Amino acid sequence: MFHLISMAVSIDTLGKAVRHHMLVVATCKQCERQARFLASDLAGLYGHGRDPRTLPFRCKACDLRGCRITVMESPFDRTHETIVWRPVKVRG
Ligand SMILES: [Zn+2]
Repeated sequence: MFHLISMAVSIDTLGKAVRHHMLVVATCKQCERQARFLASDLAGLYGHGRDPRTLPFRCKACDLRGCRITVMESPFDRTHETIVWRPVKVRG
């Protein structure tokens, strides 16, 4: 029953998240906007050894860094409510 929670806690690198086909979710602390990324996309940009919680996400609406980052299982059925963003590297 608590399998998901214990697994999420043990994900400390993007490489592990990729192996479990997980999503990385960044939530803005100010406006609660969420952005979801495929772990494999992020690993391609930042490397498989990177801790997903250290990724430099920035909320476009608030222009604020320091999003809350969580790792979650990829939903089995893809509904239109699940929007997966393609990561882009930000300058500076
Ligand atoms: Zn925001």
